[in-house]
Amino acid sequence: MELPKKPFKKRFVYLDHGAATPLDPAVFFEMKPWLTTCFGNPSALYGFGVQAKKHVEYCRAAVSKVLESQPDTIFFTSGGTESNNAAILGVARAHKANGKHIITTRIEHSAVLEPISQLEKEGFEISYLSVDNVGNIDIEEFKRKLRKDTILVSIMYINNEIGVINPIAEIGKEILKWRKQNETSYPYFHTDACQAVSTQDLHVEKLHVDLLSLNGSKIYGPKGTGVLYKRRGVEISPLLYGGGQEAGARGGTENVAGIAGMAKALVMAELDKAEYDSVRIIRNYFWNCIKKSIPDVTLNGPDVEDNTRAPQNLNVSFLEVDAETLLLYLDEYGIMCSKGSACETDKAGSHVLLAIGLDEEHMRGAIRFTLGKNTSKRDIEYVMKYLPALVQVLRNNKT
Ligand SMILES: *Cc1c(COP(=O)(O)O)cnc(C)c1O
Repeated sequence: MELPKKPFKKRFVYLDHGAATPLDPAVFFEMKPWLTTCFGNPSALYGFGVQAKKHVEYCRAAVSKVLESQPDTIFFTSGGTESNNAAILGVARAHKANGKHIITTRIEHSAVLEPISQLEKEGFEISYLSVDNVGNIDIEEFKRKLRKDTILVSIMYINNEIGVINPIAEIGKEILKWRKQNETSYPYFHTDACQAVSTQDLHVEKLHVDLLSLNGSKIYGPKGTGVLYKRRGVEISPLLYGGGQEAGARGGTENVAGIAGMAKALVMAELDKAEYDSVRIIRNYFWNCIKKSIPDVTLNGPDVEDNTRAPQNLNVSFLEVDAETLLLYLDEYGIMCSKGSACETDKAGSHVLLAIGLDEEHMRGAIRFTLGKNTSKRDIEYVMKYLPALVQVLRNNKT
């Protein structure tokens, strides 16, 4: 069997918004002055510096408003990875005298799992919550794992590979109850919310979180930008010591343009939340098309009708297909998607798909499509012109 004919006019269909989003022109517009004419160092005492400093503080206030917190709880970072590291290593190092037990899940992003595994080497004890076959954690298991020496709980808001949404507010409530019963201020609660901004409630009081990580490059903002929310009164050791910027929490000249872009992207994402109803509809349409026209496919993660699945995520296993080969063929037709997560470091396959119990065959054929706010039905129709044929070719060519 032959490959489908290349289109006369190639269309680019980008279905990897879970890895990176395009920069929104309105975000770029906000960033531009700080990259060009208004280049002053925010620490400088003359007008150019004061102007930059003022803008950083304006952005801090804008971000805090979205989280419904106070400006002094907002710290600008270089992305989700730094925010997670700053939260996890920061709490562990500042509070290890009071306990060395941490609870997390098996399906966290590597930017959480890796600093935690570093802490394990430094003598911390880690409890990993297991998940069921679609990725849900068990609150009862979580409650049983809480101990007097637990200083930190880190549980992601939305999983980047299979789109499962964790009940952050419910977990937060359980932690509050535990603290009250045990008359302690521990454990602190951190959530990696990098994948949650576009669709979920980020009101930190309602979520009962002490620390929350955000990232700019997944919400139509610039790469290399992020935010760490840290509740007042929660002490953390800094990752970067330097000139005392960010209230001493992060040394280094502020990335003013990045901060301007991050803040604008976050404010816009908050306003655009309603648009994700249509993303859900298109995602479900896509899954229905795949099910109808391609045999031997399975969905990874919660059902598409389930409200514990993020509306933009579709993770599918094509049996008897090597995901990486399929991905590269799709690219030839202008269709971009990923296998597992973009920052996959697991050699043995995705640790998330492993945690939900997939066998080798289902892992090998797993593709992640993540839609964006501009993904259209026409994009999906274009994909469906080629995807079934490519899957079939790959299956037939298997010897
Ligand atoms: C992308 C991502 C990160 C890492 O963010 P960077 O800005 O690339 O450092 C962390 N956690 C989750 C869930 C992510 O999706």
